[in-house]
Amino acid sequence: MTGEEKEEKTPVLEIRGLTVSYKSEGKVIHAVNGLDLTLNAGEMMGLVGETGAGKTTTGLSVMGLLPSRTAKVEAGDIFFHGESLLHKSAQEMEAIRGALISMIFQDPMTALNPTRTIGSQIFETLNIHNYEEQPKEELEARVDELLRMVGIRPERKDEYPYQFSGGMKQRVLIAMALACRPQILIADEPTTALDVTIQAQVLALLEELQEKLGTSVLLITHDLGVVAQTCDRVAVVYAGEIVEVGSVEDIFSEGRHHPYTEGLFRSIPRLDDDRPRLTPIEGEMPDTAALPSGCPFHPRCGACMEICRKQHPDMVTLGDGHEVRCFLAGPEENGA
Ligand code: SF4
Repeated sequence: MTGEEKEEKTPVLEIRGLTVSYKSEGKVIHAVNGLDLTLNAGEMMGLVGETGAGKTTTGLSVMGLLPSRTAKVEAGDIFFHGESLLHKSAQEMEAIRGALISMIFQDPMTALNPTRTIGSQIFETLNIHNYEEQPKEELEARVDELLRMVGIRPERKDEYPYQFSGGMKQRVLIAMALACRPQILIADEPTTALDVTIQAQVLALLEELQEKLGTSVLLITHDLGVVAQTCDRVAVVYAGEIVEVGSVEDIFSEGRHHPYTEGLFRSIPRLDDDRPRLTPIEGEMPDTAALPSGCPFHPRCGACMEICRKQHPDMVTLGDGHEVRCFLAGPEENGA
């Protein structure tokens, strides 16, 4: 399924100017800095960037799961079907979480309760949001259906997490996340802790379920290769802001890109690769307690110009839905 094949683009989630900071050891860490993102109905969108780019903080902000003692939303808002999530009460967010918006995390080993059977954990997810007061038997039948849906025999529902491999545990978590047929699934590095073959299976399962159920998925990953096969659109995040967004075709085209996106490309291993070694992006993600002036990527950018050190670049539209935050993308538009 491609972005072009979708005719209707109804936003289900709109993040506008999201700015989140953490207090840590007397320092203020600027994790997310004016991030804008739109997730449309039924699409799978990749949110790609290195560790520390602000991807997980964005996901936790949507879920209302930021640690309240250390994190603060400084500015911006998050809209779910046009309604602000940041202005919901804790009780309202509890009703939304799991039922309308779900999240799966990187490490399936720790996300399940080791002392309870997987069936009872899926059952509990259903029961928490059982507003129609369906009888127990119906919920039990739904547990079986969910297990089948993720490729696990229902007979295994009385087994404990330690009896499952990492890939199977992640399948259980996907079943739990999709139990209440959420409209949005945020999958935070769901395959990173798994070996390569299992990664492919879990991604294929996510893609299959997303198409079948019509769930909108925000797939958080550090790996641009992962999104190539699964996503409709891609947003590249650097230092807490989106630096490029477009359809998978746009991002993987030969056309103009943000230098950071190009750096991510160079670090993807390819089967037909005859490069002696992969080229990682030089330098490191900036200290988010002291972000560089101008374009936050400038200390690592081989194309850095004078203006880049002084002025923050705006997004430049290159085509339908393809935008890049770089002075090179459109100097006239940026006043360079
Ligand atoms: Fe590089 Fe300048 Fe573009 Fe930033 S704005 S990515 S420093 S060329």
